[in-house]
Amino acid sequence: MDKYVIAVDLGGTNTVIGAVGIDGNILNSNSFHTAKYEFVNDWVAEVGKWIKALPNNIEIIGLGIGAPNGNYYTGMIDFAPNLKWKGNIPIKELLEKETKLKTIITNDANAAAIGEMMYGGGKGIDNFLLITIGTGLGSGFIVNSKIMYGFNGYAGEIGHMNAAPNGRQCSCGLKGCLETYVSTRGIIETYNELNQSNHSVINPSKISVKDIYSLALNGDKHALQTIYITGTILGHNIARVITITAPEKIFLFGGIANMGKLLIEPTEEAMNSSLLSIFKNKIPIEISHLQDKNAALLGAAALVFNEKYQL
Ligand SMILES: [Zn+2]
Repeated sequence: MDKYVIAVDLGGTNTVIGAVGIDGNILNSNSFHTAKYEFVNDWVAEVGKWIKALPNNIEIIGLGIGAPNGNYYTGMIDFAPNLKWKGNIPIKELLEKETKLKTIITNDANAAAIGEMMYGGGKGIDNFLLITIGTGLGSGFIVNSKIMYGFNGYAGEIGHMNAAPNGRQCSCGLKGCLETYVSTRGIIETYNELNQSNHSVINPSKISVKDIYSLALNGDKHALQTIYITGTILGHNIARVITITAPEKIFLFGGIANMGKLLIEPTEEAMNSSLLSIFKNKIPIEISHLQDKNAALLGAAALVFNEKYQL
């Protein structure tokens, strides 16, 4: 019988669920609104119902879930700001009770890094770093072919490294965190700061990163400058973490990574300008090879396959 993993990508808006084979083939998948479920138990029941409806000629070996603030060690979701369910949610325990499947959970960035290792550009690379840039900035470190969890499961919170003393206020309570500059919100704020005297193009409260990117492609000075500044801040901070873990490659993942060369060039320039010669010009930055694929599902599935078979 073919072996499958139930992969769940739990997001604040949508939940995507699929049965994924070891080669990354997705047998069946579905998505539903997370926000519709006021209580986590109703959401868990929905997951259970979907699994029960799968054909019974497949063997399901476990359930992998990537979730905001998902903790690998405790099996909890800890205070996820984008979810309706507040506090600490024992999601692993609830899913195991409902589905009778061994469940592994981690945060979305770690799941993406494990997915990249198993199915993407990280295949055969023992040490790399994946950075997800969207609403926030997260990262997953693969060190000696293993995801680095740290003592409490929170290794890789590089979005909250200080990028500017006394800088912008972050939602975490600190000031100057990297993600206050390198994220959707950060990019918009930088653009609006530069563009203060010229509001004629697009209403600053309505502008999106997509708008800024297309303005840049059309040669808008402030949009180009915004992306350059964003890349420069990102690059300097990538250099700091390279010095600690010596990754062979850096992958960028998430909507912002679609800016491609325009973002990657200043990022590499700033990164290399802050690196020791043993690292300088030796570490490429690439867009995730799973960028347009079902990366979240593949990552959640890889969590289980990777642990079960030590791939
Ligand atoms: Zn922060």
